[in-house]
Amino acid sequence: MKLATFTHRSDTRIGAVAGDEIVDLRLVAPELPQEMVALLEAGEPALEVARGAVASGQGRLALADVELASPLLRPPKILAVGLNYADHVAETGRDQPKYPMIFNKQSTSAHPPYAPFHLPRASEKVDYEGELAVVIGKRCRHVPRARAADVVAGYTVANDVSVRDWQIRVPTFTMGKSFDTHCPLGPWIVTPDEVGDPHALELKTWVNGELRQSSNTKQLIFDCYMLIEHLSTAFTLEPGDVLCTGTPGGVGVARKPSLYLVAGDVVKVAIAGIGEIENAVIAEPADTVRY
Ligand code: ZN
Repeated sequence: MKLATFTHRSDTRIGAVAGDEIVDLRLVAPELPQEMVALLEAGEPALEVARGAVASGQGRLALADVELASPLLRPPKILAVGLNYADHVAETGRDQPKYPMIFNKQSTSAHPPYAPFHLPRASEKVDYEGELAVVIGKRCRHVPRARAADVVAGYTVANDVSVRDWQIRVPTFTMGKSFDTHCPLGPWIVTPDEVGDPHALELKTWVNGELRQSSNTKQLIFDCYMLIEHLSTAFTLEPGDVLCTGTPGGVGVARKPSLYLVAGDVVKVAIAGIGEIENAVIAEPADTVRY
């Protein structure tokens, strides 16, 4: 099943994508929570109801008539890992890490799959990172690797947009990874039964149609399940938490010379079996000032 958050006639709710249509779960299964984190919290019984709603063939809208939002409007956490593909480690000139290099993106950076993201006023060194993202489905802690698949709600595509000067001028990545709009996600969450092996998925990133990243999740140094074991050693993972699993080689900062995104660029990230997100780059609009 492909779970999405969408807006139709100025009203945002969740649905399940079937081909080129989306099943409006509020219409077909009004007893379900109408927000993604709440749906995931409701667990397998709720997902069974959603599957039934898809099978009923009722309550469908054309995907073309709705606007997809980030499948998780405000994930409880957005966790990410740096240096998790060997070719990316090599292009940064760093040593392969002994432990996963975990950092956070603020949950406010979550962004729709097709909306433009910002070139912030504070920087001209904005870069893309195409990534597989894991969505957690169960409140969990101390999950052994062998059981980690049980806590996964599904998988989605992420662009871990990075402001390189802000990322590296201090020892922690938090600021450079967390600018508003800098975590496009989606276009939907695909449940594990449809994804199959999450460690055999082709991942590609294009900028303006030019292929920049081409890899496969089998190249992950710390795989999805190892990361869940590692993270949950320290803290509770919750339904809706997003884990960006790292980017392969081919990022703009590593090119000689470095090549950053400019306004007007279009970045597309595709993962086989999940889907693709495509975001234009725009100058940060004047109306972001709020106080
Ligand atoms: Zn990343």
